[in-house]
Amino acid sequence: MSTRTKSLDEPLYNYMLSVSLRESELQRRLREETAVHPRSSMQISPEQGQFMGLLIKLLGARRCLEIGVFTGYSALTVAGALPDDGRLIACDLSDEYTAIARRYWQEAGVAHKIDLRLAPALETLQALRASGQDGSFDFAFIDADKINYDAYFEQCLKLLRPGGMITIDNVLWSGRVVDADNQEEETRAIRDLNRKLHRDPRIDLCLLPLSDGLTLARKR
Ligand code: CA
Repeated sequence: MSTRTKSLDEPLYNYMLSVSLRESELQRRLREETAVHPRSSMQISPEQGQFMGLLIKLLGARRCLEIGVFTGYSALTVAGALPDDGRLIACDLSDEYTAIARRYWQEAGVAHKIDLRLAPALETLQALRASGQDGSFDFAFIDADKINYDAYFEQCLKLLRPGGMITIDNVLWSGRVVDADNQEEETRAIRDLNRKLHRDPRIDLCLLPLSDGLTLARKR
């Protein structure tokens, strides 16, 4: 039997969820509302959300960053895993998408933990750095425009404390990373970042084949 990571067919995927997914009714409703959205593929999978919630607790995280909110499933999950005085600074550009998010954060009773910043994320990150917040965050989730992934990573790395964790979504890019004919700017940006992180001495690294590929980079 191969030791390679299994690709899950539908029955095995459903089995995995049936014996492990712990999703609240509210999370499920948000996921279902987002599933009919024209850009629904931007939503993370529920098992990925659960994994990130577990990471938050393992890290004992209190201060978190999210780059790319969309309709707020990941922020809902991260904020739910934070202690009551924990804070998530959530960066996005879309008032329309995050209006859905805010509705669910309110209903879940986690809205007070989420500081939504509607501005280009690089500006928000640079402002945090300029106000002396380097080294003060425990966790970051990067899941926004792929062209800026490397810039987001560099800013987040500065803002994290040693031992803090950066998670980066879509690093397998539906397989496009290994399609030599695909030279789209986004694909190249992800390839370049993956290659760079492989040898980056500033981090400990794992690329998890979870959902569309999730990189874990722990700041040394
Ligand atoms: Ca994503």
